[in-house]
Amino acid sequence: NTTKADVLIVGAGQAGGDLASGLRQQGYTGRIVLVGEEPYVPYRRPPLSKTFLSGEATLESLFIKPQSVFDKHNIECMFGTGVESIDRETRTARLYDGTTMEYGKLVLATGGRPRRLSLPGADHPNVHYVRTIADILKLKEQFEAGKRLVIIGGGYIGLEAASVGIKKGLKVTVVEALPRVLARVTAPEISAFYERVHRSRGVDLKTGVGVHAFEGDALVDAVVLADGTRIESDIVIAGIGLIPNTEIAEAAGLTISNGIVVNLHTQTADPDIYAIGDCAQSENAFFGRSMRLESVPNAIEQARVTAAAILGKPVPYSAVPWFWSDQYDLKLQMVGLSQGYEQIIIRGDINSEAFSAFYLKDGVVISADAVNRPQEFMIAKKLVADRVKVDAAQLADEGFVLKTLLQTPA
Ligand code: FAD
Repeated sequence: NTTKADVLIVGAGQAGGDLASGLRQQGYTGRIVLVGEEPYVPYRRPPLSKTFLSGEATLESLFIKPQSVFDKHNIECMFGTGVESIDRETRTARLYDGTTMEYGKLVLATGGRPRRLSLPGADHPNVHYVRTIADILKLKEQFEAGKRLVIIGGGYIGLEAASVGIKKGLKVTVVEALPRVLARVTAPEISAFYERVHRSRGVDLKTGVGVHAFEGDALVDAVVLADGTRIESDIVIAGIGLIPNTEIAEAAGLTISNGIVVNLHTQTADPDIYAIGDCAQSENAFFGRSMRLESVPNAIEQARVTAAAILGKPVPYSAVPWFWSDQYDLKLQMVGLSQGYEQIIIRGDINSEAFSAFYLKDGVVISADAVNRPQEFMIAKKLVADRVKVDAAQLADEGFVLKTLLQTPA
């Protein structure tokens, strides 16, 4: 028994949900089916490691739109099930329950799953990952004042969880195998700033040392590091990266690199199949190369580009990436890609907990990190997008009004 969707969206996360509503907002009248593995309407993940873990945000507040909005827009939702495989010849998708559905256009918005630890003991019930509502509901049952929390991985998710742990009165250790935290995404100066911040708030932060083993029969009672240090644990959180969900695309013969390979219009080599969000390795016109990004603004933008393509009014994907992270009372906002920078200029006092860092290449601002400086961040976004050439001394001088740079683009 096969039915046909004009647009079948696989994955009801940030990208998939936005695409469904975006299509309707732009006037699409065909049949839209949104299939999602998780038993929820599309929800925001950023609060999972922030206000939802801390208990400040309710479950309902995570939902991007209530079910009634999907109903009103005639978006057919199938939550709690998924697509197992795609047959490109017959243009059908097979669902987990064995039923099939034909598609006109298929959009893969499958996100990713946490990279898992492979050590013996890693499947004990006090070892946690931070990706879904279900993960956090399970973690919250154990997340109590006085508990000893060991976080493996000093990336955003690990550091945000550490900050919530401290706030809730847990005893927090963070273990990062690389020599510094946030190493993949920021300059040594900013890593050093965040290391000072976490230590000053009470985190026992260990860098440059990996995890060697877990001790304990039913639970992980201690984490043993490569240098022999033994850290007693009640709870372990692993935040060691994401694996994009590319398997169904790969089995269907689509090209995979770091993600599902798509062009400037988020389209795979099969013109009827698109991929967006965390699972997609996408061409970006601003950079003139392809990349896979893990951020809400990227998911939103790619959903917009796909809706335009499906509606026959294609626009290229050319957004400059940006991101944010909340730790303690610090709001970090980042724009651009800092790889390959030649100079970093700090504006403001890096010890004051309100400053910006600008990354320059050939005198041009290619990226910026702003800590508790939202207005400067808005200007930084424009400087990066317009590839503005700056004078480093002016940029560092707080007496110099940054905005004036916007009137004289390079
Ligand atoms: P997802 O939101 O992961 O959605 C994919 C969905 O597809 C999932 O629900 C999955 O179950 C489903 N699925 C997978 N396979 C199938 C299948 N075969 N059939 C049906 N359904 C399937 N970004 C920021 O910009 N700022 C932040 O501060 C920030 N904080 C974050 C904090 C946490 C804890 C996490 C986990 C992420 C954070 N992110 C942040 C990243 C951001 O949430 C993701 O980039 C974004 O959710 C990507 O959207 P997506 O739709 O591609 O994937």
